[in-house]
Amino acid sequence: MECTMDSKRKQTEEKHLISKMIHLYCCNKHAQKHKSLCDECRNLLNYAYDRIDNCPVIKTKSFCSSCAHNCYNNERRIQIKRVMRFSGKRMLFHNPIVTIKHLIKTLEYKIKKR
Ligand SMILES: [Zn+2]
Repeated sequence: MECTMDSKRKQTEEKHLISKMIHLYCCNKHAQKHKSLCDECRNLLNYAYDRIDNCPVIKTKSFCSSCAHNCYNNERRIQIKRVMRFSGKRMLFHNPIVTIKHLIKTLEYKIKKR
């Protein structure tokens, strides 16, 4: 039970983060008005949500960015990497608390894996 609760929380956090990153990317790269994504980015976000909902390793992993289990298809992986590369740095300024929390979790995960 505890495990399920934790997975749910992780899924929610992961969705929250990916949504922020894609919004930031779209806003800067595709010059979209606030809060609305272009079709391409909306599709990518839906795809990412779907991956998170169906993640087979959600209980053990931290976040998709630090996961060895590649569940994205090639095309989507390239897209999401581009978004993460762009938004990763900028997230520190826009959402420092969320980003630092994420960094800590990623580090914890990497340390545990050793
Ligand atoms: Zn876009």
